[in-house]
Amino acid sequence: MRIGIIGGGPAGYSAAIRLSEKNNKVQLFEKGEVGGVCLNVGCIPTKSLIYSANLYDIVKSDKGKVNWEEIQQKKTLAVKRVLMGLKGLLKEKKIEIINKEAILKKDASIESDGKEYRFDKVILATGSKSILPPFSAPNDVWDSTDALAASELPESIVIIGAGFIGLEFGYIFSCLGCNVSLIEKENEVLPGEDSQSAGTLRKSLMRKGIKFHFSSEVIEVKKENDKFCVFFKKNNKEEKIESRKVLIAIGRIPNVDGLPGTILEGNKVVKVDDFLETKIKDVYAIGDCRGGYLLAHSAFKDAEIAVKNILGGEAKKDTFAIPRVVYTEPEYASVGYSEEKAGLEKIDCKVSKVNFASNGRAIATGKTDGFIKIIHTKEGKILGSIIVGEDASELVSFLSLAIDSDMSVEKLSETVFPHPTFSEVIGEVSSVAVRDRGHSF
Ligand code: FAD
Repeated sequence: MRIGIIGGGPAGYSAAIRLSEKNNKVQLFEKGEVGGVCLNVGCIPTKSLIYSANLYDIVKSDKGKVNWEEIQQKKTLAVKRVLMGLKGLLKEKKIEIINKEAILKKDASIESDGKEYRFDKVILATGSKSILPPFSAPNDVWDSTDALAASELPESIVIIGAGFIGLEFGYIFSCLGCNVSLIEKENEVLPGEDSQSAGTLRKSLMRKGIKFHFSSEVIEVKKENDKFCVFFKKNNKEEKIESRKVLIAIGRIPNVDGLPGTILEGNKVVKVDDFLETKIKDVYAIGDCRGGYLLAHSAFKDAEIAVKNILGGEAKKDTFAIPRVVYTEPEYASVGYSEEKAGLEKIDCKVSKVNFASNGRAIATGKTDGFIKIIHTKEGKILGSIIVGEDASELVSFLSLAIDSDMSVEKLSETVFPHPTFSEVIGEVSSVAVRDRGHSF
């Protein structure tokens, strides 16, 4: 088959690789750099900065000076390495990359650089973009891409939005000695996540020196002399914070620019059926552009599902648990149901919890902050988990596996975890869950 893909981010490039491995002729249209947001200005560079910031935070009592230039070089190198690997793979798989903007036509053809292309199947993987602020702000306020490219470390920064991206940048800048204030219109960090667990993370970040302003709506950002002034309303009172930089991180939305209105829902997101096909036959949409969790691993999963369907299968979207992670210290990771969500859906469930404080590895390494919770049904089926603590980003995968394989807390409690590891908290919490259900071993 001849396949055209618009967008070379995680969704687009992984679909391209899978399809070419099955002997299809793939043309990938990418107006920027392959790897998309995730590789170039998202997941990879932020994690490099977080790693460096973390190291600095550990050794800063030795009065080491922050070498921002070196930290930035390391980040750029990490991105380049992954990019080189990806480009090599795309070449090896004989995927033709057309480095131009592409436009999908209503008849499922693609127009790019004045040429018309026809395909048997088309995949849209146009990603997402930052939400523009609903208040006025000077042109030189930052979004996440600007913050990643900063040539100097600001002495103070106001971050608007305490979601995943705002928190990670807040963490990076505060570890590196900047004065960080975070403004959030909701009353807790990570709106939409389990508020009690989010509160635990927030308290850890407050101990790092980040100042939070909740239930605060920004009215305007202005420049006075060479400083930014952020005006916001909190409890009907107007307040103002001055800072050297302002980062706006109020969320991301699907990028549907130039796509035919017939395949959109409310002009905001590409509407797909259970099999990720749009209203135009043989045109699929995957990754951030079709909404849902705007996460790279969700985009990879979409690519796998769309490819199966293009090749004649019947794979359904949204049937796997998608973990969500904030890579701060401690890390925050969640998967599946939270207590709040189960409550809203009136699911009769129990919550079992174990603190990291009693874990041998946590004590040995001084990483005792945090806990693991699992949410399970009366019958012992695992519905979800929230982990705040060291290596939460790794530990959460055990729980994804448990949820996807319909594992019971009894079964999980039988698993042998190596000692001493943080993973033992999973064994412990599942044993607690078995006890909470009134069962004994
Ligand atoms: P994108 O990566 O956005 O790729 C879309 C591509 O399509 C782009 O390269 C764009 O240039 C191209 N394109 C768009 N329109 C056209 C057109 N008309 N013609 C040609 N090309 C076009 N996710 C995680 O899972 N973990 C993280 O740790 C994480 N950290 C993040 C940190 C930041 C600061 C940001 C901003 C995002 C982060 N994300 C993270 C989210 C993650 O980057 C996205 O979910 C992921 O990139 C989505 O992949 P995608 O392929 O759908 O879209």
